[in-house]
Amino acid sequence: MSLTTSLATALAEGSLKIVDLTNTLSAETPTLRLPEPFPNLIDFRLEEVAAYNESGPFWKHHNIHTGEHIGTHIDAPVHWASGKEGKDVSQIEPERLIGPAAVLDVSAAVAQNADFLLEVEHVKAWEAEHGPLPANGWLLLRTGWDKYADDKEAFLNADESGSHTPGISSACAKWLAEETELSGYGVETVGIDQGNAAELDPPFPAHYFLLGSDKYGITSLQNLDKLPATGAILVVAPLPIVGGTGSPARVYALLDS
Ligand code: MN
Repeated sequence: MSLTTSLATALAEGSLKIVDLTNTLSAETPTLRLPEPFPNLIDFRLEEVAAYNESGPFWKHHNIHTGEHIGTHIDAPVHWASGKEGKDVSQIEPERLIGPAAVLDVSAAVAQNADFLLEVEHVKAWEAEHGPLPANGWLLLRTGWDKYADDKEAFLNADESGSHTPGISSACAKWLAEETELSGYGVETVGIDQGNAAELDPPFPAHYFLLGSDKYGITSLQNLDKLPATGAILVVAPLPIVGGTGSPARVYALLDS
């Protein structure tokens, strides 16, 4: 039997399960808030053009207004200064967007410390148990942060000392970028860096090292608790925006049920 026939059979029989890892897109979707003096992207919004009325007696359609980095989305290399000679989102090969998922669960540590940083030792401990990070794969950081995905304030967790959300250390971001063959790195938080990553060296190390090494980021993932540590296949489907630095994306995981 061909692989595609096997896949179709598995889907029809339910032996292959699809988990949607995407947050819904609406004006309520939590989005990044940059500090002064930096301007922010606009939130997602629908603008009605016709709704079965004189503007369109038989149809309904909208314009969409949105920033690129809104909701569950991908960061392309050109998003960051270190990747400015790299690919825009339309240039990322589909082969890089579909691959094995490695799920690293640090939710217990994050429950104790919202400013948790993933270190190389955490990844090496995961590898000791599950094997090397997969080539063409995605490291997905399970932090439990998706429970705040419908609550803008809790999702950003900001106070006078900044935004307290988990992330990755500079050393770990550099190691993932330079020592692994990952396609990218996915998180449950609003961005691929820690909330206070402006204070790390270099600032925003996940963006700096990963996007500078032709690796991609995906954010605002959900349902990572439904995935095994290994064995799921990730499907990332951004819009091919020419010149785009990122795009809202539908992200699925395929796994044995
Ligand atoms: Mn982004």
